[in-house]
Amino acid sequence: MTMHGLIMDYQLNLPSVLRRAEQLHFDREIVTRLPDKSIHRYTIGEMVARSKRLSVALQKLGMESGDRVGTFCWNHYQHLEAYMAIPCGGGVLHTLNLRLHENDLTYIATHAGDKIAIVDDVLWDLFDKFRAQANFKHVIVVRTAGKPLPPGTIDYEELLAGVDPAEFKYLDIDEHQAATMCYTSGTTGMPKGVLASHRAIVLHSMASGMTDTLGLSEHDAVMAVVPMFHANAWGMPFTCLLIGAKQVFPGPHLDPASLLELMAQERVTVTGGVPTIWLGVLQILDDNPGKYDLSSIRAIVTGGSAAPRSMIEGFAERHKLHMLHSWGMTELCPVGTVGTIPARLVGQPKEKHFDFQIRQGRPCPGVEIRARNENGLVPWDGQSMGELEVRGPWIASGYYNRPDAATSFTEDGWFKTGDIVAIDEYGCLHLQDRAKDVIKSGGEWISSVALENALMGHPSVAEAAVIPSNHPKWAERPLAIVVLRNGKQASPEELIDFLRPQFAKWWLPDAVVFSDSIPRTSAGKFLKMALRDKFGDYYCEQAAKQPAT
Ligand code: ADP
Repeated sequence: MTMHGLIMDYQLNLPSVLRRAEQLHFDREIVTRLPDKSIHRYTIGEMVARSKRLSVALQKLGMESGDRVGTFCWNHYQHLEAYMAIPCGGGVLHTLNLRLHENDLTYIATHAGDKIAIVDDVLWDLFDKFRAQANFKHVIVVRTAGKPLPPGTIDYEELLAGVDPAEFKYLDIDEHQAATMCYTSGTTGMPKGVLASHRAIVLHSMASGMTDTLGLSEHDAVMAVVPMFHANAWGMPFTCLLIGAKQVFPGPHLDPASLLELMAQERVTVTGGVPTIWLGVLQILDDNPGKYDLSSIRAIVTGGSAAPRSMIEGFAERHKLHMLHSWGMTELCPVGTVGTIPARLVGQPKEKHFDFQIRQGRPCPGVEIRARNENGLVPWDGQSMGELEVRGPWIASGYYNRPDAATSFTEDGWFKTGDIVAIDEYGCLHLQDRAKDVIKSGGEWISSVALENALMGHPSVAEAAVIPSNHPKWAERPLAIVVLRNGKQASPEELIDFLRPQFAKWWLPDAVVFSDSIPRTSAGKFLKMALRDKFGDYYCEQAAKQPAT
């Protein structure tokens, strides 16, 4: 017979995080840059009081247990208030991605069944494009820029002012209840809704704060550049509240100079964003030596797409700034692995550290990984490639109302990520590609990401994407699309020669096409689908042009 432990059945829920923040971390600061670039500053204590008001107000507007409340906002303090107010009142926080097309947003808001929306005044025109097709019963407007209130909407501040925070009751919410909902941004088909439970978020916050993960403490000042409307800003708002770290929100100002000013001024210690943001920041730092005092920064977390080695080395060597590589997905709340330097590398030459840092790191406690190809599970030898499968307490077990998406899970309940990886003997992940982007040349796999990153190490290359292009003989061959740096030149032969020492001969692109820019997704990743539409038949077309011999 099983002998159960005699331990309380304490619910891991967001009300417990809110209560802890109120009792223990009330004096820590929350800083926001407003649309007019002025700074708003208040404490966690004030934030909790306002969050409670919002929670009660939403309930009075009809938010019942399980109701979805959409947010359409930048990163700022009111969004943080909503992050806690909605789930603590029993609702489901549904972050809508403002960079998506209105057709996608209509689909997402309708599919999710959002009942109430909270919208920034500066985003009203975008919101207005899909509002009528969705089915919001109430629309609340956060007037971050003091714009006039659109007719038929509710002013956020007036709503809060009309509520007595004493009416707020800490609910003992069942930890399995849904707390947040976030749709994958659809680079891989129709957007799918990920529903995270309270328990998943609390455990994710605990694990991502740990020393060998992001290593956060009350002493930190954390700036999430990654949007709160995309993968919950990597969970940073929740993790920071649990731990009591100061939070800094950049509002709508995401250009590199504005970010650098804010980091210096607020003595930010940890910040996180996609590589595209950091490439821009590195450029400004290189162009303005000594202008920004970034001595407070302990880690620049990069994730969301592959980080070129030249960027990681550039920050370290030229600016003494440490990049921390992380891999995650919306389906993982979203952090899965983090590249904290392992004990075995201490004292090793810096080259070895860089070799490690370009990889995606090891799974956080709680996450298990494995990879599989057509021959079964692949060995952890750092070479064999397979599709990454994961499981753990904050990993999706299905998608909201999408029974057709059951194919994303294995029979024994692991989630199939669609990422092609190699795993080394220490359990460190080396992401090679997305399954749909990997190049299948003559039955072998070529990593487009490895080629792209190497190309971006060439001094004349600003950006590079490598795609599979159909080939009459090899099925697919790699084709490089390259954006040159301003005023720089390079020939296709020179770029291919540059890659030659780093790769097997059959990995090298057969051709390089120059372009002015590379199209991006809403999250700033290369939109390879658009490139494949344009160049997917490049080699077949070239072959057809050759005179028959
Ligand atoms: P989508 O890009 O489909 O909107 P997500 O934002 O959830 O969805 O992105 C998850 C994907 O981003 C992963 O499956 C992976 O392909 C990619 N990704 C995340 N982190 C990294 C990383 N550190 N290096 C390379 N790719 C990454």
